[in-house]
Amino acid sequence: MKYKRILLKLSGEALMGDRQYGIDPHRLEEYAEDIAAITKLGVEVAIVIGGGNIFRGVAGASNGMDRVQGDHMGMLATVINGLALQSALEDAGIPTRLQSAVHINQVAEPFIRRKAMRHLEKGRVVIFGGGTGNPYFTTDSAAVLRAIEIEADVILKGTRVDGIYNTDPEKDRTAVKFDHITFDDVLRKGLKVMDTTAFTLSQENELPIIVFDMNKKGNLLKVVSGEKIGTKVNL
Ligand code: UDP
Repeated sequence: MKYKRILLKLSGEALMGDRQYGIDPHRLEEYAEDIAAITKLGVEVAIVIGGGNIFRGVAGASNGMDRVQGDHMGMLATVINGLALQSALEDAGIPTRLQSAVHINQVAEPFIRRKAMRHLEKGRVVIFGGGTGNPYFTTDSAAVLRAIEIEADVILKGTRVDGIYNTDPEKDRTAVKFDHITFDDVLRKGLKVMDTTAFTLSQENELPIIVFDMNKKGNLLKVVSGEKIGTKVNL
């Protein structure tokens, strides 16, 4: 395997499958199988899960809700998704721990870096819920932050698109995919990979990001074994 320890970022929306809201159990099961396959090969897997399938603070704010209140709801949504993913992974035979950045001790362990690293060494998948624990941040920022903290080799951003394109491939048929691109070029070309806070944190810490299509079964294994799918962003 090319990567020994990975941080997989899954958006909340990815869990919706074809639904408009919530969690698609079939999609969850497929993700769990893919994650189980690489764990069984000895890859240490940490996951940051989003919450957009349930609630986003900005959406609340645009309807007149206090932004911080909305962000708290969004953070709790990521814990709900984390619990669902934990359950699916355990059904697939993989031991997991859910650690939350917001204290919710009856439901999840608190985030403790050393504990998280120990779980990984023991072959447990660690799911980080609650984002960064702060409003005005995203789970992409949480993904980069946790990846740096646990000394992951790479961030794998699993999306429904198979990489980074020069324009939006879902709107423009002539869009061209990059196999590889530098952090500087992403910024220079104004491409959207992650929000700026998350992206800059990754760049400053020289942590590569691979964007790939997580909805194609087996792709996760291909990425961790070093096959050139998706788009890799590095220095
Ligand atoms: N959120 C937050 N702080 C964080 C991470 C997330 O306040 O550190 C809230 C924010 O409201 C965000 C929501 O949780 O909109 C869900 O996270 P995100 O939008 O990143 O989920 P995704 O787009 O990956 O599904």
